[in-house]
Amino acid sequence: MKFISTRTGHAVRIEQAIMSGTAPDGGLYVPDSLPSYEIDTFDGLDIFAAIAAQFLAPFFSGSSLESVLPGICHEALDFPVPLIRLPDEPHAISVLELFHGPTAAFKDVGARFLAATMVSIIEKGEFAQPLVTILVATSGDTGGAVAAAYHRKPGTRVVVLFPDGRVSPRQQHQLTCWGDNVVALAVRGEFDDCQRLVKAAFADPALNSAHNLVSANSINVGRLLPQAAYYAKCSLEHYRATGAVSNFIVPTGNLGNGFACVWARRMGMPIGRIVFATNENATIPDFLLSGEYEPRPSKATLASAMDVGDPSNMERLQALCGDVDGIREIVSAQSVSDAVIRATIRDEYERHGTAWCPHTATGLHVYRNLPEAEKQAGHWVVVATAHAAKFDTIVEPLLDQQIEPPVELARLLDWSVDYKTIDAELDQVAQAL
Ligand SMILES: *Cc1c(COP(=O)(O)O)cnc(C)c1O
Repeated sequence: MKFISTRTGHAVRIEQAIMSGTAPDGGLYVPDSLPSYEIDTFDGLDIFAAIAAQFLAPFFSGSSLESVLPGICHEALDFPVPLIRLPDEPHAISVLELFHGPTAAFKDVGARFLAATMVSIIEKGEFAQPLVTILVATSGDTGGAVAAAYHRKPGTRVVVLFPDGRVSPRQQHQLTCWGDNVVALAVRGEFDDCQRLVKAAFADPALNSAHNLVSANSINVGRLLPQAAYYAKCSLEHYRATGAVSNFIVPTGNLGNGFACVWARRMGMPIGRIVFATNENATIPDFLLSGEYEPRPSKATLASAMDVGDPSNMERLQALCGDVDGIREIVSAQSVSDAVIRATIRDEYERHGTAWCPHTATGLHVYRNLPEAEKQAGHWVVVATAHAAKFDTIVEPLLDQQIEPPVELARLLDWSVDYKTIDAELDQVAQAL
């Protein structure tokens, strides 16, 4: 299969789409066609890695990764993505828990898959020199997931830039505890400064050729593809048990996770309605309402990993669905305020004794807010994007309750940290490289 740019149709092999991240014309890579699956394509397959290997096979057919894809899936997708039914509810509602990976957020899925495919591409001697440097700017979750995924991976080095003093203490720990082939740089500035520095580094031919800079940001097609696979697994599981489709509510920022769900639906998986839950950054809900796409600067909210005013993957959604009416046929969207996020975290804790992260809370609110008839009509799944313990400084005071971190996260929190602080200047990044 070929991958083409959303802008000019510029076509490349999957190896190149993965190693270059974005297309030279500034567009995003998408498959030139989507496979169409029947339910029985997956007969006999139960675990996530096995379903993912089958689901992703057409995208890798004819590439140098075709034969190693099952191994990559088993190595990278080695943690559970359970669909948990909420008990004692009047209608069928489940939560898809995507926070059982090493850094307790769904980004582990994409980051680990991307790392495994890159290592395989490098080992086969394609596209890159023996040592590549993955350069990434983070406002919190992405950097930790990428650092964890590439830690001690041969042929790779990771340099993470984060805004000094602007990530949560636990997020900072997850960025700075690795050592070995991972370097963390605290930048005196904001997330936008980090992103500007990374862009400037990629645009600098001398830095590029000296370090073989590679991007691992969330628009890389190698991160999106495995995300579609958990929607395949989860919707299949419910369909096998009941013969019915599942509707999904996806907490959404840059629209990677939500778009992956649309992809899975397009490929024939048993998925019904899809609802994007955003925080007060309401670019997507406003677009679906008015038909005018109006990007804007992002605004800080409690669900900080979703503070995006111009979601990159909108370009993929528009390329797939055509105009806004095409998008409306499949998805709707709703914005949730900080006050409602707080109230939802409290209410759900009272209801079920479970603490949810602020991002997941947007999705739970959207479910609670559905018209009764829609709740009654089918199975709804709220996607849980991170563990509440990652956002302890928000969740614990609301519940007056300590949140135990999951084992994997607790282990990292025991490690000692190391990082360098730099000014927001390209020459200081160059020195650290
Ligand atoms: C990144 C992230 C999101 C937003 O996902 P997108 O793919 O950018 O829409 C939501 N919740 C958490 C916890 C995240 O880390």
